[in-house]
Amino acid sequence: MPTTIAHPVAAPAAVDAPVCGPGPQARPLNERIAADPGAFRVLSGDRPTGPLHLGHYLGTLANRVRLQQLGLPVFVVIADYQVITDRTDPGPLRERVLTLVAEYLAAGLDPARTVIFPHSAVPALNQLLVPFLALVTDAELRRNPTVKAEALASRRPLGGLLLTYPVHQAADILGVAGTVVPVGRDQLPHLEIARSVARRFNERFGPVFTPPEALLTATPHLLGSDGAKMSKTRGNTIGLGDTADRTAEIVRGAHTDGDRRITFEPTTRPQVANLLTIVAELTGRDPRDVAADVGDRGAVELKRRATEAINDALAPLRRRRADLLADPTFLADVLLAGAARAGEVADGVLTRVRAAMGMEYARGGRIGSR
Ligand code: ATP
Ligand code: MG
Repeated sequence: MPTTIAHPVAAPAAVDAPVCGPGPQARPLNERIAADPGAFRVLSGDRPTGPLHLGHYLGTLANRVRLQQLGLPVFVVIADYQVITDRTDPGPLRERVLTLVAEYLAAGLDPARTVIFPHSAVPALNQLLVPFLALVTDAELRRNPTVKAEALASRRPLGGLLLTYPVHQAADILGVAGTVVPVGRDQLPHLEIARSVARRFNERFGPVFTPPEALLTATPHLLGSDGAKMSKTRGNTIGLGDTADRTAEIVRGAHTDGDRRITFEPTTRPQVANLLTIVAELTGRDPRDVAADVGDRGAVELKRRATEAINDALAPLRRRRADLLADPTFLADVLLAGAARAGEVADGVLTRVRAAMGMEYARGGRIGSR
C-alpha cells in the first residue's frame, strides 16, 4: 500500500484564530509558519464518534494536510477516551477508529510523515493530566461555553470527564509538544485552557511548555443541514464517505430562506452564506462572486452548485477512502506505528515534567529498598 497520497482537494484558505493568537500586534501565525516551518509542531484530533464530515474537512483536516505539505511535524490524536464524555456507550470503537485513519489518509495525510495515534495507547498523556488538573479551577472549567453546550445537549448531569476534558486536551497537545492546533471554532475555549495550563506550569515549576496557538480556516463553524453546527452527534452532516446521491439529497434538504435573490450575508442569511462558502472554498472562489453568479435563480440553483462542488471535490477522496477501508490490517499498522512514535515523544515530555517537579527518584536506587 503506497504511503504518499496526492492531496485531492485544494486546501481552504487558513486564517488565524482571533482569540488564541498572540494578539493583533504580533505577526499572524500563518506567516510565522511559512517563514520558519521547522519551529512549529502540529497537534490536532477528532473523537471517534462517527465518520468525518465536511465540517471536519474544511474546518481542520485540509489544514492538517497543508501543514504536513509545508514540512511541519503533524500529530493526530484519535481521542477515544473522549467518546464517553457525553455518552455512556462508546459504540463500535475499533471500526470507527480505523475509519478515521482511512479518512485521514484519503484526505492526504501521509503516515510516513504524520503520526496518527489513539489516545488510549499513549499512557504518558494521562499522567500529565494529574499535575495539569492542579493548574485549573473549578470555576474556569464550569464557565467553558463549549462544555456547557455539550452538557446541555447530552441531557445528562455534567460528569467529571466532560468537565475536565479540555484539560485532557491540554495534555494531548502539550504531551507531544504541539504548538499549532488546527481546530474549529468550538475548540477555542479549550485552547485558552491549554495556553493557561502551559503558562501556569512554567511559572510554578519552570519552563517546559510553549503555549500552543489555534489555527482556524475560513470555515471554522460549518453549518449542517438543520442550520446548527455540522456535527456527528446531531446527524446533520455531509459525510466525506457519503455517496454523490446521498450528498445531493442532504443538500436539497438543507435549510435556507425564502428570498430568491442569493446574496452573501453571513449575519442575516447564515444558511445561504454557508452554502456559498462551501462552493467558494471547494472551488477556490470568493463567496460574493458565487452569489452573483446564482443571482435570482434561488436556493435550488445554489444547492445544485453546492452539490456539484462537494461531489467533484470529494470524488478522489471517496475513491481512496473505499480502497483504504478494504485493508484494515494496514490501517491498524498505521495506528500501531503512530502510537509507538507518539509514546516516545510523550515519554520525553513526561520526563521533563517530572524533572521540573522534582520527581527524579531513580538515581541512587534507594526507593522501595529498606
Ligand atoms: P461530536 O458531535 O461527536 O462532538 P464533531 O462533529 O463535533 O463530533 P469532533 O470530533 O468533536 O467532531 O471535532 C473534531 C475537530 O473538527 C475539532 O477541531 C472541531 O473543532 C472540528 N469541527 C467539528 N465540526 C466542525 C464544523 N462544523 N466546522 C468546523 N470545524 C469543525
Ligand atoms: Mg465535537
